Order: sequence, then structure tokens, then C-alpha cells
Amino acid sequence: MGAAELIIDLDAIAANWAALDAMSEAHVETAAVVKANGYGLDAGRVARKLHHVGVRSFFVALPEEGRAVRATIGQDADIYVFSGHMAGDTETLRAANLIPLLNSPEQVARHFKDAPGTAFGIQLDSGMNRLGMEPADWDALKDQIMSIGPRLVMSHLACADEPDHVMNAKQLRAFRGMTDGIAHRRSLGATGGILLGPDYHFDLVRPGVGLYGGSPFKDAKPVVQLSVPVIQTRSVTPFETVGYANAFTADIERQIATIASGYADGLIRAMGPNAQVFANDTPCDVVGRVSMDLITVDVTHLDEVPDSLDILCKHQSVDDLADAAGTIGYEILTSLGHRYARRYKGAP
Ligand SMILES: *Cc1c(COP(=O)(O)O)cnc(C)c1O
Repeated sequence: MGAAELIIDLDAIAANWAALDAMSEAHVETAAVVKANGYGLDAGRVARKLHHVGVRSFFVALPEEGRAVRATIGQDADIYVFSGHMAGDTETLRAANLIPLLNSPEQVARHFKDAPGTAFGIQLDSGMNRLGMEPADWDALKDQIMSIGPRLVMSHLACADEPDHVMNAKQLRAFRGMTDGIAHRRSLGATGGILLGPDYHFDLVRPGVGLYGGSPFKDAKPVVQLSVPVIQTRSVTPFETVGYANAFTADIERQIATIASGYADGLIRAMGPNAQVFANDTPCDVVGRVSMDLITVDVTHLDEVPDSLDILCKHQSVDDLADAAGTIGYEILTSLGHRYARRYKGAP
């Protein structure tokens, strides 16, 4: 028995990519964002699978991530780096043939000085105020940059998961204002931007979370399943308490199962009182506090307690679990623990 089992379905990731790809016109390239170790699911395995089904542009947050992806997919794909070209990055960018997305005049100067003649892209700030060149800096440097030729000019949407948000159209106008008429490829949309429709697609779209089965791509195929062994089951009598801080008190005699995962495995404490786990199709409430390595579950209503209980399954998605914890699916995915026995389905 031992460790909880995390099953990661690479075929579902490929199917989600294909479904997102089908939402844009044929001339629009659909890339894949594999930052943060492929949203916690293993960037190497995810990138190899997507490369196998035809993806030829990947995005990572940091050069070190790009180097790992390059090592698994070989040379015939572009790997872009959102953090751009920071001091100390030059050798990694060059050795792994990565394309930094330059974010500031300082990064532009550094890239042209330290890596002249090598590929780069530009990230523009269209209003999110997180990464990217400000409009004034872009105005000042645009002609020089255009004469050298970026591989991609991109920006990022702040509110794309809310289709009716006024920020979407505002950022679209800002991005177009900065880039209409240039002869280089443009990109604005991530998962949310794809769903906003063709105005947001430009030449390349960059889905991340939708590939991994998360909101806002509601029709995504689920990618992860998590099943956790029951270590022990006990009866508690009325007024007995369960777990740290006596957070749960039994009202009637109850059966409590203790399962082998906790907040150290990414099952954050905040989900405690709102979360459920599943015995096949039957929901069971989490009771008491989530501990570091253990969770206690009310299984009174089960005829038989199974060997394991499911936390991520067809009845509970990463977004359902995120709702229970007051967070987002992205955080559940990237927090999935390293103690799980990970099993990959559909490896090429
Ligand atoms: C993370 C990220 C993406 C992918 O976003 P999703 O919402 O996961 O699809 C795309 N572009 C940038 C700049 C990002 O930081």
C-alpha cells in the first residue's frame, strides 16, 4: 500500500491541446505553456508528449526550465522564456537555444550586447503591470527592435477568465495600438484568451492551465486522478473529538478513516471543512483539521471502507478542490506533492 497514487493522463493533455487548437483558425499556431514543471505534472514528460503530437512552440518562466525542456524534446521546437534575459542568463539561453522574451529596455540592451544575433521576442505591458515593456519604452525602442526582428511580440491578459470584463477589450486595444502594422508574429491569448474568440488569437496562442484540465477551459478532459490509501479506521463515540485543536466533535457514534496525505502533499489546510473525498461514487466529508501527512474522513455511511479514497476523480476536479480551499486550480496543480507515487498514462 504505502504512498498515495497520482495518475497523470498525458493522452488527456494531448486531447486538451487539440481541442484548444481547434478553437482558432488554421493559421494560428497553438503553443504550450509548461512553466513551473508543467504546472506540477513534469515539464519533460508533458513537453515530450505534446512535441510528439506536433507542438512546436513551448513557453517556460525561467531559463533553467527551458534547459530541461530542451533536453527532452531536441532542437526542432522554439522554447520561449517569459522572464526574458536577466543578468547571468546568457550562457543558459545560448546553450539551450532558448528565446528570451525581453521585458525592459535594460533587457533589450543586455541581449543585444551579450547575445547579438541570437533570437529574442518582446513582451509588452498592455495594462497588467506585471511584466513587459511600457508603451513609452516601446515607442523609444520600437524602430531599433523591429530592424533586428523579434521572433514574437506578445502581451498577457489580466482578466481573460472573465469574458465580460472590460479589461479584455481595453488590453486588446492597447496591444493593437502598440503593434498594429508590424511585420512580426504577435501573441496575446493564453487559455482564457483563446476562449474570448478570434480577435484575441493573433498569430500564436499560449494555453497553459487548459491543457492540464483546469478552468476557464470548462470542457477540458480531466488530467489528474489522486487516490489515497486508508491507514486506519476507528469508531468515535459522541463528544469524542478528532484531530488537532479538537476541531471536530462527534455528535453520534461515527466511523473515522485516516488517509495518508496532508498539507505537505499540497492538500492545503484551508480546504479542510469544505472538502470531500470519494469512496468510488460516494462522497465522504473531511472532518477535523488537515494534518501534515494525514486527513481524517467521516465514513460512517459506507457499508465497507475501501482500501483508498479518491481526492481527485470524476466527481471532484482540481477546480472543485480549489473552490473548497478558496484558491484556484493552478495552485492545486502546482502544489501536488512529491511523495505521491506518480503514474503516467499515454507516454509516447
Ligand atoms: C502562465 C502564462 C500563460 C498561460 O496561462 P494559462 O492561464 O495557464 O493558460 C500564458 N502567458 C503568460 C505570460 C503566462 O504567464
